[in-house]
Amino acid sequence: MSSTKIGVIGAGVIGLSTALNIVESIPDAEVTIMANIFSPNTTGDYSAGLWEPFVTSGANILRWSKVTFDHLVELAQSPLAGRIGAQFCSGYQLGECNINWSDIVLGFRPMTKEELALFPTSGVTMGSFFTTVMIECSMYLPWLMHRFKEKGGLVFHRRVNSFEEIADEFDLVVNCAGLAARDLTNDNTLKAIRGQVVKVLAPWIKHFVVLDHQYDPGHVAYVLPGAKAVTVGGTIQEGNWEETVDEKDKLGIWKRCTELLPSLTEAKYLYDWAGLRPFRPEVRLELEELKTAKGKQLPVIHNYGHGGSGVTLHWGCALDAVAIVKDTIQKYCTKSRSTHPSKL
Ligand SMILES: Cc1cc2nc3c(=O)[nH]c(=O)nc-3n(C[C@H](O)[C@H](O)[C@H](O)COP(=O)(O)OP(=O)(O)OC[C@H]3O[C@@H](n4cnc5c(N)ncnc54)[C@H](O)[C@@H]3O)c2cc1C
Repeated sequence: MSSTKIGVIGAGVIGLSTALNIVESIPDAEVTIMANIFSPNTTGDYSAGLWEPFVTSGANILRWSKVTFDHLVELAQSPLAGRIGAQFCSGYQLGECNINWSDIVLGFRPMTKEELALFPTSGVTMGSFFTTVMIECSMYLPWLMHRFKEKGGLVFHRRVNSFEEIADEFDLVVNCAGLAARDLTNDNTLKAIRGQVVKVLAPWIKHFVVLDHQYDPGHVAYVLPGAKAVTVGGTIQEGNWEETVDEKDKLGIWKRCTELLPSLTEAKYLYDWAGLRPFRPEVRLELEELKTAKGKQLPVIHNYGHGGSGVTLHWGCALDAVAIVKDTIQKYCTKSRSTHPSKL
């Protein structure tokens, strides 16, 4: 029997982690990544890479988040941590303490009176302190790619215009196209939630601070110290597809964050970035059985719509996607033995 040919669309944090897990757990498959954008230019590359469920929803979020948290903790504790920018990060979430992932992070506790007094302009009367993990995707994604290629994975720079276009090349396709999945799948529930950030150098800032409820809708304040830079944000602008930096947003971000954390004021400016979170009411992680115009059955496993939590969810989603891929191969093998002996 020839090896199963699996095509993965997308080389962001979702596509790479999914492709790597497929190649590692189905060694006799031929796995090919196709993408038109690679690291260091994917959405995740510029994100802060903070583990925290944010701008996302759905039944499996906590389970995927937990699996990914454990994976990132393992990386942050490993000798690889420096090479891939994995680190523990402790800090303050200002506002309500009743978040439903409090037992996943480490050492979650309410802030003390003295800690709340550190943020007099925030207007909050409660908050929480905990330790989470961060990963610098511009270091992590090349490492995932390296491992993928080492295991025999193939990579092509290619824009895929439709599933039909690649149906004859693959037995099975995994769709990790992020926001662009909207066009590939005609999925109107997938939409952009724009985020703008300023990246600065401020090695004296060691704790993260997040305040997301006190401002006009669409505006938040967060300061997230990562392996390469501090990410200062931000905006949550639903339905805004603009990827250029907005000067008014930039001034607003800087004003909110320096008021919240005056020690940021003399940070060294690096660059601004605006990106689009691929938001969907629920992450789409499921099998769709497509039939092409020529009558070929093409199983497509979708893994997109991770909103503001692609890094937070990626490993858990990748493992579930692999389980679906395995089931699908099994199912089609059985089918092919009875009806289509040449396929799979
Ligand atoms: C300002 C901001 C801050 C963020 N901070 C965090 C954070 O701290 N923590 C967190 O967990 N998440 C964060 N996120 C969210 C996170 O960045 C995203 O959820 C995640 O990067 C989405 O990954 P993805 O792989 O699905 O999409 P992308 O990174 O956008 O990758 C999509 C891939 O699909 C390919 N592709 C698309 N269409 C086609 C096609 N037709 N043919 C071929 N290839 C195609 C692209 O080339 C690309 O390789 C943030 C997002 C923003 C905007």
